[in-house]
Amino acid sequence: MRWEGNRESDNVEDRRGDYDGGGGGGFGFGGRSVGIGTVVVALVASYFLGINPATLLSLLSGGPAPVPTQQAPAHRPPADDRMARFVSTVLADTEDTWTELFRERGGQYVKPKLVLFTGRTRTACGIGQSATGPFYCPADQEIYIDLSFYQLMKERFRVSGEFAEAYVIAHEVGHHVQKLIGISDKVDNARRRMSEAQANALSVRLELQADCFAGVWAYHADRTRNILEEGDIESALNAATAIGDDTLQRQAQGYVVPDSFTHGTSAQRVRWFTRGIESGKMSACNTFEARQL
Ligand SMILES: [Zn+2]
Repeated sequence: MRWEGNRESDNVEDRRGDYDGGGGGGFGFGGRSVGIGTVVVALVASYFLGINPATLLSLLSGGPAPVPTQQAPAHRPPADDRMARFVSTVLADTEDTWTELFRERGGQYVKPKLVLFTGRTRTACGIGQSATGPFYCPADQEIYIDLSFYQLMKERFRVSGEFAEAYVIAHEVGHHVQKLIGISDKVDNARRRMSEAQANALSVRLELQADCFAGVWAYHADRTRNILEEGDIESALNAATAIGDDTLQRQAQGYVVPDSFTHGTSAQRVRWFTRGIESGKMSACNTFEARQL
């Protein structure tokens, strides 16, 4: 992936190494209780690739998230930190791309903040943990990433390549786009009135749409800034394959329980990312009306 020298975002906050305790530690979730099965499946899935962001956190807290009490001044990552520069550059690229796409629709893109952390950190969705993997918190509209996740991707899933790493960020940005256009709130409201299986099915559609939006970003970023190199798309598809719920569950427990899927199968993730990157159109990402996912 070609990215060096491109614009970096001002919206990265570096909280690595400064966890403040978060009010006594532990999960700061309140609200309704959920079945232990749900929690276990969500935790297993999120441990392995966490891309279970909002879904997991809102599942656990089940209600409007508490407002964060901490408003520490944001500090930027050091300029000689290559990984942080990479993340800032990818975030900037998503900002430019989505600003333009929103403008074309007559809307305005509000840029999310991206927080780098290690271990755990306070979020408006509760205490974020690196074991969850990268996630998006709709309540504060921030993306949270512990960069050690990329190490996990390489070691456990043998997925490497900068574009695969960028895809992870673009997927979380996809959740932010869903928040801005009102889809996440609709899904959250609908899920509250459903059985667990139905709610999971809806989560799958939400996740696959975020994959598709990641593809839409890549399409436009490549047309405008020529970021893709040979093998890049394959590496992102490998990532999408490695982190499908069926693959994760097989690795974790040796069998697959479709009702507990919250992200979609490997094939589904690949299909929707591909739709996005081939069409470049948000309208191609309507997973909620798709008969076949
Ligand atoms: Zn997701």
